Amino acid sequence: MISQLIRRCIGSLLILCAIAGVAFGGAKSVIRLQPLGRKLTPRQIAAVKRAIIAFYAVDVEVAPRLPLPKLAYYPPRKRYRAEKILDWLAPTVPKRLRLVLAITATDISTSKPPHKDWGVLGLATLDGRVSVISLFRCRRRARSVRHALVRLMKVAVHEVGHNLGLDHCPHRGCLMEDGHGSVLTTDRERDLCPSCRRALERRGYRLPAPPKEIWSER
Ligand SMILES: [Zn+2]
Ligand SMILES: [Zn+2]
Repeated sequence: MISQLIRRCIGSLLILCAIAGVAFGGAKSVIRLQPLGRKLTPRQIAAVKRAIIAFYAVDVEVAPRLPLPKLAYYPPRKRYRAEKILDWLAPTVPKRLRLVLAITATDISTSKPPHKDWGVLGLATLDGRVSVISLFRCRRRARSVRHALVRLMKVAVHEVGHNLGLDHCPHRGCLMEDGHGSVLTTDRERDLCPSCRRALERRGYRLPAPPKEIWSER
């Protein structure tokens, strides 16, 4: 009787743990971080990983580094076109993964009318499975190396948000705010606003409580 009860309790515990650990539901709860190029340190990659886990409660795997794809290189500005990186990456995403986030320290750009080649912090497919972020512009007027890294972590949460279906958000201070080409907006962002959180919940993503210490610059 007692052993049956214990077994039943353990059974419920296991179910609860499974639910708590799989915020995205189903098998597709894994995000892959794909470092591109050699400039990012393992510590920087680990910090981005921690931010995604803290925000989205998913499993994050880090793939071995790959070189930046030559086909995405844009010689006039000596940088890489972000949309070409995404085109190159998209067909390689295994079915078992929810999405792949490429990270690099090299400058990336895309077209933003009237600009033919506009430097960006990141680019993602809306409601898609690929995104790319760069540390390069996070360093602009940064107080410290850590400050630039915290910005990169916020950009990661932002681009993953796009992949999960979130568009830009008009609420000042929301992590889905449109930076309009400036990294400075990230400095006032600390969380997804309640309406972005609700939008994700409507899509079936259960987020943990907003993490508190993750943006510490120490
Ligand atoms: Zn965006
Ligand atoms: Zn928002």
